[in-house]
Amino acid sequence: AHREGKNQILFFEPSLTERTQKRLTQESEILLAIEQRQFTLFLQPQVDMQTHQVLGAEALLRWPQRDGSLVLPAEVIPLAEELGVIVPLGNWVLEESCRILARWQHQGIKLPLAVNISVLQLLQQDFISHLKQLLVQHPIDPGKLQLEITETVRINDLEQVLGLLRELHDLGLSIVLDDFGMGYSSLNYLNHLKCLPIDLIKIDKSFIDGLPQDDAIVRIISSISGVLNLPIMAEGVETDAQRDWLLQHGIRYGQGFLFAEPLAREAFEARFCPPVQ
Ligand code: C2E
Ligand code: CA
Ligand code: CA
Ligand code: CA
Repeated sequence: AHREGKNQILFFEPSLTERTQKRLTQESEILLAIEQRQFTLFLQPQVDMQTHQVLGAEALLRWPQRDGSLVLPAEVIPLAEELGVIVPLGNWVLEESCRILARWQHQGIKLPLAVNISVLQLLQQDFISHLKQLLVQHPIDPGKLQLEITETVRINDLEQVLGLLRELHDLGLSIVLDDFGMGYSSLNYLNHLKCLPIDLIKIDKSFIDGLPQDDAIVRIISSISGVLNLPIMAEGVETDAQRDWLLQHGIRYGQGFLFAEPLAREAFEARFCPPVQ
C-alpha cells in the first residue's frame, strides 16, 4: 500500500505538488508564528498637521526575523488571506491592540489606536461576538478602538458589511474607511456611504504621492468628504509641499514619514507619550 501511495504522486503535476507543499509550509509557519507570539505591532502617529498634535496611532503588523529583518504586511496579509489563516492572525492583531489600549489607559495615555481589519475577517460569522468577548476581557473605552476597513468590498458583500458596521458602531467603536478612492466607487455606493456610520475617511497614499502637481483625485475626494460631512486624513505624507497643499485645502489630519515612520511600541511611547504628571 505504501508503494502504491508513492506511485500515485506521479499522477500529479509535480509543480502543483510543490506549490501545495509550499502553501502548507507557509500556512503552518504563520500559525506557529502566531502561537509563539513572533508577530508584533508597530505604531505610526496620526497628527493634526496644523497644530502638530499627535491624535492617535495606527497599528501595523510586523514579523521580526532571526536575522533582525522585518517581514512587512504586504508579504503576510495577502498570503494569510489566501491560505485561510487571516482570521487567527487578525484575531491576534485585535487582541494585541486591546492589550496596548488597556496598558495605555492604565498609564493615563489617552490616544486612540487604529487597527486594520481584513474584510475577510469582518465577514466571519463570529467576528462581532469575538470582539465583544475581547472588550470584556480587556476593559477599554471602545471609542479608543478604531477599525480601519478598506473600501475594496465586493458589491455582493456590501449589504452585509453595512449591517456589520452599524453593529460595530453601536458597540462604540470608531469606523475608518481606509484606502479611499482605491476600490469600489459608484454614485450608488456614495449614496450608501451617506447613511454609513463612518467616522473618518483615509485617502490612500497613492493619491498623496502626486501632490502638489497631480491634485485632481484628492480634490474630488475632499469634496466628497465635504458633501458627506466626514473628516479626512491623508496617508503617506512625505514632503512639506504635500503637507502645505493639504492644509491649504482644508485637510488637517495626516500620517506619513514626514512626521514619523511606524515605530516599535516602546519607541513610539518614548517619543509621543510624555509621562503623565
Ligand atoms: P495601509 O492601511 O494603507 O497602511 C499604510 C501603509 O503605508 C503602511 O505600510 C505604512 O507603513 C505605510 N506608510 C505610512 N506613511 C508612509 C509614508 O510616508 N511613505 C511610505 N512610503 N509609506 C508610508 P505597511 O505597514 O507596510 O502596511 C501595508 C498594508 O498592510 C496596510 O496598508 C494595511 O492594508 C495592511 N496591514 C498592515 N497591518 C495590518 C494588520 O494588522 N491587519 C490587516 N488586515 N492588514 C494590515
Ligand atoms: Ca490602514
Ligand atoms: Ca489599508
Ligand atoms: Ca493605503
